[in-house]
Amino acid sequence: MSTRPLQSIIQSVPTSDGAGVKLRRSLGSSQFARLDPFLMLDEFYSDNPDDYIAGFPAHPHRGFETVTYMLDGRMEHKDHLGNTGDLGPGSVQWMTAGRGVIHSEMPRQSEGRMRGFQLWINLPAAEKMKPADYRDIPAGSIPELEFDGGLVRVIAGTLRLNGQQVSGPVNGPGSDMATDPLYWDLHLDPARQVTLPLTRGHSAFVYLYDGRASIGGESLPHRAAGILGDGDRLNLVSGSDGARLLILAGKPLNEPVVQYGPFVMNTREEIEQALSDYRSGRLTTQTASA
Ligand code: FE
Repeated sequence: MSTRPLQSIIQSVPTSDGAGVKLRRSLGSSQFARLDPFLMLDEFYSDNPDDYIAGFPAHPHRGFETVTYMLDGRMEHKDHLGNTGDLGPGSVQWMTAGRGVIHSEMPRQSEGRMRGFQLWINLPAAEKMKPADYRDIPAGSIPELEFDGGLVRVIAGTLRLNGQQVSGPVNGPGSDMATDPLYWDLHLDPARQVTLPLTRGHSAFVYLYDGRASIGGESLPHRAAGILGDGDRLNLVSGSDGARLLILAGKPLNEPVVQYGPFVMNTREEIEQALSDYRSGRLTTQTASA
């Protein structure tokens, strides 16, 4: 048994995306700020509609998965497959872009708080051109594991703790996802600690979004990605106001990553193909071309 140390920090930087949505980007703020298989983590958080009202009008993706987790506010997703999704507080949208998705993500409110996260998870070369897939996961279908001192919302992966076992709606038992993703939202009461099991050898990081917490006596910066060293468990201690953190882990793909905006492939040629497919209207229909 070994406890994962806090190894490094990827600070979040203010940026904007879509038609001008203000957000903070930690992972993905540069090509060196990734943690295989995770490509990007954005947090959007504002009480000012000017910061989010323009939304994310129709845009493409190819070669990876996007996971949107809402804390506050409502967004509407529409895509070329005809899916419409209503993302409300506590809900998740798990979208596999595969060979191509064209979608929009627009606010369904003109005032009030909008807060949530978008995570990008890479796909292995063998799955980058698979058909697009989309899952809307309502807040009520995300299980919670309660323990003395807090709870974990289990969005993806399986959590075993104190004789309990809870699996998320994504990557539960029998899943064969290449990246074996784990996505937990941990709520810790004030001045408590918890030890959570993590698979040795998988990349893992935490993102403290409320309160204070520490790992091995080192305080976590607020709204930054805390990259964990290897080990088979994570020990977290909350501060006097409690803490809320995302905990993310996944199996590294160890493949070359070539990114151009919303396209993430293995080679430059594949990026050029994606651009050409998009320009000619074949992004979502073309099967893999040599
Ligand atoms: Fe998108």
